[in-house]
Amino acid sequence: MPKTRCTVCESTIAVAVNDQLAAGKSVRSLAQVFDISRSTLGRHAAHAAADRPAAATPIGVVDIQGRNRIAADATIDALRAAGRLESIDSARIATFQTLADAVDADPVNASLWREYRAAESTLREVNDDGNDELTEILGRLSTPMGDAEDKEL
Ligand SMILES: [Zn+2]
Repeated sequence: MPKTRCTVCESTIAVAVNDQLAAGKSVRSLAQVFDISRSTLGRHAAHAAADRPAAATPIGVVDIQGRNRIAADATIDALRAAGRLESIDSARIATFQTLADAVDADPVNASLWREYRAAESTLREVNDDGNDELTEILGRLSTPMGDAEDKEL
C-alpha cells in the first residue's frame, strides 16, 4: 500500500508530531505547538493514523491508556503484590495514576514529568526496607519514559 506523503511527513518534526498524535493530542493543540496550520495538520493526521503499524490504535476510536499509565499501574500492582501498599493511602496512589495519565496526555510538559517522577519515587520509597527482590521486580517493570519504546506497543 503506497504511503501518502505531505509537507508534515517530509518535515523534521514528523516523528514528534506523529508521537503526539499517537499519544492522543488533538490536531488543534498540536497545530499551535508545532506552528502548523490546522488544515495541513488535519490532513496529515488522517493518513498518519493509517500509516502507523497495525498495533497502534486509531486516534480517537478507543480510550487507550498511555504507556506511562500502563507502567504506573504495573508498578502499583507489583508493590501491592509485595504487600508494600498496605500502609499507603489510596489518595497517594490515585495521584500517581493521575499524573501518569497527565504525562501521557501532555508529554511535552516538563513540570508534569517532574511531578510524576516524584510521585513514583514516593510510592517506591514508602516502607522501603531494602528488599532487593522487590527492587529487582520493579527494575524489570520499569519502562523507559519518553519516546524510545513506542513500536513495541
Ligand atoms: Zn503527512
